[in-house]
Amino acid sequence: MTGTHRLFPALLAVALLVAPAAVASGQGTAAQAPATAPTATDTIFGRSGRLLARFFAPPRSMEVEPIARLFGKREQKNTSTIAVTDSASGRQFSLITLLPFANKVNGRVGDYHLGRFPAEKRPPRSAAYENPDGFIEVTLENKDTPVSEHFRLSDFLTHDQKNVWPKYLVLREALVDKLELVMVELQQRGIDARRIRVMSGFRSPQYNQRGVTRGRARDSRHQYGDAADIMVDNNADNRLDDLNRDGRVNSRDMRVLAEAVESVERQYPELVGGLGLYRANSARGPFIHVDVRGQRARWGRY
Ligand SMILES: [Zn+2]
Repeated sequence: MTGTHRLFPALLAVALLVAPAAVASGQGTAAQAPATAPTATDTIFGRSGRLLARFFAPPRSMEVEPIARLFGKREQKNTSTIAVTDSASGRQFSLITLLPFANKVNGRVGDYHLGRFPAEKRPPRSAAYENPDGFIEVTLENKDTPVSEHFRLSDFLTHDQKNVWPKYLVLREALVDKLELVMVELQQRGIDARRIRVMSGFRSPQYNQRGVTRGRARDSRHQYGDAADIMVDNNADNRLDDLNRDGRVNSRDMRVLAEAVESVERQYPELVGGLGLYRANSARGPFIHVDVRGQRARWGRY
């Protein structure tokens, strides 16, 4: 935590009521449990203290048959966002309800094509690979909604179907929290890291599938909203910055970034996940992959 946050009681009550439900419906085998279990430092603002949005699965009680018979089957056609203001800091905070997964029909939600998730084709290898609970609906109006101090919804969208709106996004708070913690860690190490560029966040299954022959993993965590390919890019030139200030941008700068991720995982074991290293090639500079799959995974080299 970088500061003390006081919420007005109503918001706190909402958070306390809804958070356990979101945890219970999240991905949770024994191995994954640490990734979603709240800790003493996990406030509504996350471990980083910088989250500005929370995502909630729709209440499952409405799907229970006797309740559905009494009140009619509840159909949710949009995601809803409740904007609240944190009374202590004055910051806007968004409570976003997910559009249930069942709204995806024939691989589409509305006009937006997502394809079929791996668990729709074969039994998932663990709970972390089950279908997501639902989608965040991203419109031209809400795409710039901050999810944390340095990231917004649009940073994580699949890079496709440019003219189709709304788009649908899977994103986990733990990923955003981890990215913010990496920035905190870099700053604590005296490294200028004001802007992390997400080169690739969520990848819909159909988008991910197109890259499988080029080395994209069929079970890629990008499909589950808990992975991001990132670089520190303060000057917005679309290349990793010279983090160690030796006058060159190379694997040593990637190492600086990766070591910050390692440190965050040591401090917050519940945010453990994949760390992949990608050296520069002729088309792009170096970058790293970060995820919060709940198990340590490492690949690539400096
Ligand atoms: Zn990746």
